[in-house]
Amino acid sequence: MAEQRLGIKRKTHRREDARASLADAEFSAIRKSVLRSHGWRCAVCGWKSEGEDGPTHLQVHHIDDDHHNNQESNLEPLCPLDHAYHHLGCDAPSHGGHVGWASQMRVAYLPGLSPADLNLLHMALGAALADPSTAPVAQAIYRLLEVSTLVVKDGWGSHKAKDFAAAMERMTPEQYAHRKVDDLRVLYDWPIVQQMGEVWKKDYPMLSARSWAQHKR
Ligand SMILES: [Zn+2]
Repeated sequence: MAEQRLGIKRKTHRREDARASLADAEFSAIRKSVLRSHGWRCAVCGWKSEGEDGPTHLQVHHIDDDHHNNQESNLEPLCPLDHAYHHLGCDAPSHGGHVGWASQMRVAYLPGLSPADLNLLHMALGAALADPSTAPVAQAIYRLLEVSTLVVKDGWGSHKAKDFAAAMERMTPEQYAHRKVDDLRVLYDWPIVQQMGEVWKKDYPMLSARSWAQHKR
């Protein structure tokens, strides 16, 4: 499993690579077998998104950051939330533009929650929004999580993921390898939680808060 720490893609980005289409062809040929061999589950949080006969919401990640290395051992499925940990840099100055969710991520100080647990919590909150009886609780929990981004803003001067990405881009390889980010997590902006809530509930029907109440009985 890839390390689950905040990071950026420091090797050749596919958008700056003349051989990208060759690597892409290789990748698309092997992509589905990687997903299938992992049982259509995120390698970090275990979220399942079956896509044998339709679209899956899983993405396939290059563990060593090199999109030319399309060996099966270098590839693993990740849910969009876990994948984004490795790509804070999509929005870094030298890459320009907005790709993915880079501008909708804040850094939070949450040592007590693993990245996988926090991401599953995002999914549960999104699913709970669909039900008027649980939506206010989901909003209240999210506001508590937001407090942990303010700690980062005070201590580091910013809680924006793109500022962290820019700082990591300026590091030497040695500094980057030893970056101290183990207690930091990504909090996704509320519109992402809302937008993905319906999707997550479809993949995992038991995420709906009503089904929790049923399980309790
Ligand atoms: Zn995941």
